[in-house]
Amino acid sequence: MARYTDAVCRLCRREGEKLFLKGTRCLGPKCAFETKGYPPGEHGIRLMGRRRRQSDYSLQLREKQKARRIYGVYEKQFRRYFQAATRAQGLTGIELIRLLETRLDNVVFRLGFASSRSQARQLVTHGHFEVNERKVNIPSYTVDADDVITVRTRSKRNGFFAPADWQPADQTPTWLALDAESLQGQVLRIPSAEEMGSISLNVQLIVEYYSAR
Ligand code: SF4
Repeated sequence: MARYTDAVCRLCRREGEKLFLKGTRCLGPKCAFETKGYPPGEHGIRLMGRRRRQSDYSLQLREKQKARRIYGVYEKQFRRYFQAATRAQGLTGIELIRLLETRLDNVVFRLGFASSRSQARQLVTHGHFEVNERKVNIPSYTVDADDVITVRTRSKRNGFFAPADWQPADQTPTWLALDAESLQGQVLRIPSAEEMGSISLNVQLIVEYYSAR
């Protein structure tokens, strides 16, 4: 599948809610969802304020697409995550989110090293991080409990991580610990369902989507 290169704000407008794909811009007045809160496309503005009855399939599809877009995962890979979740012990929907949450790019984002998942993915790909003292440049790398994620020594000199520029996340999730001084984070444990509770996804709809086909 080709990489998505169109404006990402269209994705929020398509899903009808803010997906926070552009970091700090999402919190400011330039957020496209705030200024153009109608679906993208030629007839989008005419649909503003209209409520269309959605089929079950449409609801399931939209929820699955929303999850894919939030975590920046392609369809094929997302399906693989779903299949892995069905094989895991526990509720499939929860296991699916757990697999997505423990991706290295997501953990880098959650620790506050990047302002969005796409920026985190780029930082990981460019080799700025080590996991347990070994360089890892694979965004989909799955972290485990007790793993230590560190900004590499040479990257600490890089302007991006310079103390004046880099700000730790306002709120680090309870399953992660951040040492802002040494630019190091640790996975305290694999997140429980409660610790992932703030994620605004209806995982049941995603399970129904894949189960029906
Ligand atoms: Fe979505 Fe962020 Fe763009 Fe707003 S600025 S539309 S939240 S990606």
